[in-house]
Amino acid sequence: MLNDQFNRVHDYLRISLTDKCNLRCSYCNPIDLPKGHFANSNKMSVDEIDTIAGVFVQLGVKKIRLTGGEPLVRKDAKEIIRRLSKYPVELVITTNGVFVHEFIDSFREAGIQSVNVSLDSLKMRKNLIITGRSEFERVYENIQLLLKHNFHVKINTVVIKGTNEDEIPDFIEWTKQQPVDVRFIEFMPFDGNRWSNEKVFSHSEMLKLIAAKYEYISLQNEKHDTAKKYFVPGHQGSFAIISTMSQPFCTGCNRMRLTTDGKMKNCLFSNNEVDILRALRSGQDIVPLIKQCVWDKKEALGGQFTSAYKNIDSSKINNRSMINIGG
Ligand code: SAM
Repeated sequence: MLNDQFNRVHDYLRISLTDKCNLRCSYCNPIDLPKGHFANSNKMSVDEIDTIAGVFVQLGVKKIRLTGGEPLVRKDAKEIIRRLSKYPVELVITTNGVFVHEFIDSFREAGIQSVNVSLDSLKMRKNLIITGRSEFERVYENIQLLLKHNFHVKINTVVIKGTNEDEIPDFIEWTKQQPVDVRFIEFMPFDGNRWSNEKVFSHSEMLKLIAAKYEYISLQNEKHDTAKKYFVPGHQGSFAIISTMSQPFCTGCNRMRLTTDGKMKNCLFSNNEVDILRALRSGQDIVPLIKQCVWDKKEALGGQFTSAYKNIDSSKINNRSMINIGG
């Protein structure tokens, strides 16, 4: 078992397959980062991902999420999915949805049942502005395709004040006719993403906006949930809020991350990285490194934000960009 000093058991690993993405969402993939910010040549191979994942499974991991960058742009993504499907874990994926139609069989054969698709606007033009690419129709069609094939579909929507908070009711209206679970994510600060506390549309602001149009009911949360879940009676889907900035959920955290260049992070906001890939390549036993990394986890938010989000100075945060960590 992987325990930290605060008695949190860690059994959920998120693996970034690549730091490349076909979209250009500025909150995730800043265009003005220096060369060398991305991993490129030190990317883990299929064999290395398989080996490292196997070690984590032996240490008690029960859930693996594939992410990125965009995990499905990796040429050998199908092979990685196939190889990881042999482990007795819940295998899930987070994607921007653009290539999903090429992966339906691969997901099904691997036993993947739940797919998170990122979509920040239901309007074609706004989507183009946010993502820098004209892929709205393809993504929307692929969400329909996933539903048709009975996948559980969660929609990840990053809410940025002044950009898309006005669409929150439209997303909730969508859950009336379709069994999608929409998760509104508070905007988080990462390297180069021009975060400011004024752009955060908080959990309480979201609920206030929603209450003006809908009567909603809170759902019971489970221990490790990052999202506070709600539903509108009569709707087929539900909605949830990931309130990392205004109401962090670190006490129940069970997550660990592996970047595409094989560095382990014990928290999304941790600036302490342990080079698992280099250790593996040099024939070292990676088990003690993994255990120590978990043990060293800070009590909350990687130890980086000690004050309320309204007082955070994002220029003092030392972290990679989200695309480079693996969301
Ligand atoms: N390419 C895939 C996708 O689009 O879902 C997977 C990687 S992406 C980094 C994973 C998730 O992180 C997405 O849902 C994205 O919206 C979210 N994300 C990225 N940057 C964020 C930020 N600054 N604040 C909140 N969520 C963010």
